[in-house]
Amino acid sequence: MSLSGAAVRRKKASGADRDQAAPGRPALLLDWYDRHRRRLPWRPPPGAQADPYRVWLSEIMLQQTGVKTVGPYFEKFTARWPGVDALGRASLDDVLRMWAGLGYYSRARNLHACAVAVVRDHGGVFPDTEQGLQALPGIGPYTAAAIAAIAFGRRTMPVDGNIERVVSRLFAVEEPLPRAKLLIKQLAATLLGEARAGDSAQALMDLGSSICTPKKPACALCPLNDGCAARVRGDQETYPRKAAKKTGALRRGAAFVVTRGDELLVRTRVENGLLGGMTEVPGSNWIASQDDKAALKQAPVLKGMARWHRKAGIVTHVFTHFPLELVVYRANVPAHTRAPAGMRWVPIATLKDEALPNVMRKVIAHGLDL
Ligand code: SF4
Repeated sequence: MSLSGAAVRRKKASGADRDQAAPGRPALLLDWYDRHRRRLPWRPPPGAQADPYRVWLSEIMLQQTGVKTVGPYFEKFTARWPGVDALGRASLDDVLRMWAGLGYYSRARNLHACAVAVVRDHGGVFPDTEQGLQALPGIGPYTAAAIAAIAFGRRTMPVDGNIERVVSRLFAVEEPLPRAKLLIKQLAATLLGEARAGDSAQALMDLGSSICTPKKPACALCPLNDGCAARVRGDQETYPRKAAKKTGALRRGAAFVVTRGDELLVRTRVENGLLGGMTEVPGSNWIASQDDKAALKQAPVLKGMARWHRKAGIVTHVFTHFPLELVVYRANVPAHTRAPAGMRWVPIATLKDEALPNVMRKVIAHGLDL
């Protein structure tokens, strides 16, 4: 049986919606979770109360980033800032530096703003409702539902990519994403138990990442395989249905890697916008029609510099909305050459302490042959 939004509404109207929530699914899910839950640094031992600070921090870090990558960052953050009070007193620069390498840096800025707001407006205690949480910086509907369920036991189901996949297969949802989001949320809510909402949510997350995987789901091991509509059809991998994706147009630019002995010329990006407040080497703007000549005109002007050397090859990077190609120009300038206005020299040995986004790490490695 597959479901479109209209079909679900018809079924509801006829009172047949009980079919969708096959009896026992929430219990089967929790039982499976109790035996197979993943051990993750932010999860307390079974039965213990989750710490809202740790839940919030992990959920922000996990937005657009995988569990493996997040683990060490989470440990680093909680070792340095064990609670929201400490993080709220930290400087934004320190937070950005610690975040460097995790990508999507607006999350780090919002993380800091949120900690400040919780300390300033809520006495250091996170609000315990979805509505209250959503009023904080960087917390959208999904994150609010996840924190409300996991940290406060609110009966709500956060729906991330993993859960979308499981639910769309269980019910063979034919409506394509993103249109199907509301329908999937309604169907996902049928998998909540009467209690332990946070565990139900985490069970579905775990099921999606370990069993109901995008390719070759391990249906034989799935606690919900009895009555899974996509499994009956045999086309599990084709769910969730997706509308054709529009990818952004390729942009091009140039980056200028300038050394003065063992120092590198850098600047800080403007606060607002892509990679706001992060460190970068000087560069041209990034546009579709960029050519070498126009890019070179945007090179930093340094006294005593002989010539630019264009490095062979290009650096590529993919942002959420567009892919980028950068050519890298290299130069070395004499000792005591002053940095142009708005730029500074930093020792190459201390670059690891700079808030360098991944694209700039690639550029510097290419420019310096690291
Ligand atoms: S039976 Fe297979 S397709 Fe259905 S929810 Fe389980 S793992 Fe996913």
